[in-house]
Amino acid sequence: MCAIVGVYGAEKASTVAYYSLFAMQHRGQEGTGISVANGKSISVYKKLGMVADVFSQDTLNHLEGTCAVGHNRYSTAGKDSKGDVQPVFAKYKLGEISIVHNGNLVNKMEVRNKLIDRGAIFQTDMDTENIIHLIAKSEKDSLVDRIKDMLTKIEGAFCLAIQSRKKMFVIRDRFGIRPLSLGKFKTGGYMVASETCAFDLAGAEFVRDVKPGEMLIFEEGKEPQSEMVYKNVDFHPCAFEYIYFARPDSDIDGKNVYETRLETGRKLAQETPAEVDLVLPVPDSGVAAAKGFADELGVPFEMGIVRNHYVGRTFIEPTQEVRDLKVKMKLSPIKHMIEGKRVAIIDDSLVRGTTSKQIVRMLLDAGAKEVHMRIAAPEIKYPCRYGIDTPTKDELISANNTVEEIRKKIGAASLGFLSIEGLKESLGKERNYSMVSFDGHYFAGGNADSPSCGDS
Ligand code: AMP
Repeated sequence: MCAIVGVYGAEKASTVAYYSLFAMQHRGQEGTGISVANGKSISVYKKLGMVADVFSQDTLNHLEGTCAVGHNRYSTAGKDSKGDVQPVFAKYKLGEISIVHNGNLVNKMEVRNKLIDRGAIFQTDMDTENIIHLIAKSEKDSLVDRIKDMLTKIEGAFCLAIQSRKKMFVIRDRFGIRPLSLGKFKTGGYMVASETCAFDLAGAEFVRDVKPGEMLIFEEGKEPQSEMVYKNVDFHPCAFEYIYFARPDSDIDGKNVYETRLETGRKLAQETPAEVDLVLPVPDSGVAAAKGFADELGVPFEMGIVRNHYVGRTFIEPTQEVRDLKVKMKLSPIKHMIEGKRVAIIDDSLVRGTTSKQIVRMLLDAGAKEVHMRIAAPEIKYPCRYGIDTPTKDELISANNTVEEIRKKIGAASLGFLSIEGLKESLGKERNYSMVSFDGHYFAGGNADSPSCGDS
C-alpha cells in the first residue's frame, strides 16, 4: 500500500510534500518521512506516526531545498517495524541518494540473500533497501545507468522516486500496478504522487499519469525527460485501488475512483438484486457502491450506520478479539431508521468476514427484519503479492468457504458478490486490470503461497 510523492523545482518543496502526504494519509498511517535536496546535500526527517503529528512548521522550515521526496508507510500486521520508515537515505560512491517506494518486490528475499552473500549489511526489513544496495553496488558510471542496472534485477510492483543532490528520477514498473501521476505547478516545477488527490491540496495541476515502464528524469533548467526503460510493457493497473484503497476524489489512469465504485454498485444490483426497503453502506468504504446499488434498484439510500472517525482501520489489528472490538468502536446503527425494515448493507470487499459478521449482528440487534449483505467486489480467494495487504490464504474467508457457508457464518438473510466479469465491466474492458486477489493470476511473479513481501 503506502504513498509516495516527489517534488522538483518548487520553492518550499518540503511543505508541498507535507500537504501531499497529508492528502494521502489513507494510504498508510504507520510512519512518514520527507527528504529534501538543495543541490549540495540531502536532509531527511522521518518518524513513526501520522503526517500532521510527525511534522511541525519548524521541521519543515529546516528541510530547505527545491526537490523533495516523501512517503507514508502502511503497517504490516504484527510487525515491529520501527526502523522501516522511508525515505531510505545513503551516501555512496557518487554522492548522496534518497529513495521512496510504493509496492512490493516479489524477488525481495532472493536479491537480499545474494547481496548479503556479497557482504551487504541491512538495517531494516524493507525491500527498498535492496534498491539502494543495487544502485550503490552497480559498476556503471552514472546514476541513471546504475538505476537502469538496478531495474534489471528487481521484479514485482513498484513506483519509485529517487533523489540525488541535484536530480530526481521517477519510475513506474512495467505492469503499472500501483498508480502514479505527474502534476505541474503554475510557478514552474513538477510533482509526482501516488494519487491525484495530492495535487489538489499541493496546488498542482494534473498533467498525465506516469506510463507503465517509464522513467522521468527531472533536472534543473530542463523539462522532465521521459524514457521507456522497459521494452516488455504489460499494463495491469490494480483493481483493488478502485475498489477499496484509493480516495474517491482521485483519478487513476484516467478513471475516477468514485465513479467506478458507483458502477460496481449498479452492476452488483443487476447481478444480485435484493427485495429491501433500505440500502445502507458500510461507512466509509461502501458508500459509493451502496449509492449505485440503491439507484439501480430504486430503493432509498441512507447513511444508517454512523462511523466514529477517531479509531484506526480494523483490518490491520493482529488478533481477532481486537478486530471485533474495533468494529464496534467504529460503527454504530441509527436504530429508529432500521427497526422493522428489510435492509441491504453494502461493503466494498470481504476479507476475513470480521466486519460483515459484526455489522449483520449490529443491524439485527437494532431491529432490522432482514439483513441482506452485498459485496461490491468478487470473492477474495488469493493473497495479493503486489502491494495490497491481504492476509494468507488460511485467513481469507472466501478461500475456504462457499458463499452459502459464509452467509451462514455472518448470519445474513442473503449474501451476494460482484462477479469477476461484472468487475471487469465496471472498470472498462479496454485494460487488463490486476485481479490477483480474485483470480489468482500472478502475472508479475510471486504466488499465493510465497511469503508475504508486503513491505513498502
Ligand atoms: P474483513 O472484516 O476482514 O472482512 O475486511 C473487510 C473490510 O476491510 C471492508 O470493510 C474493507 O473496506 C476493508 N478492507 C479490505 N481490504 C483491506 C485492506 N487491504 N486493508 C485494510 N482494510 C481493508
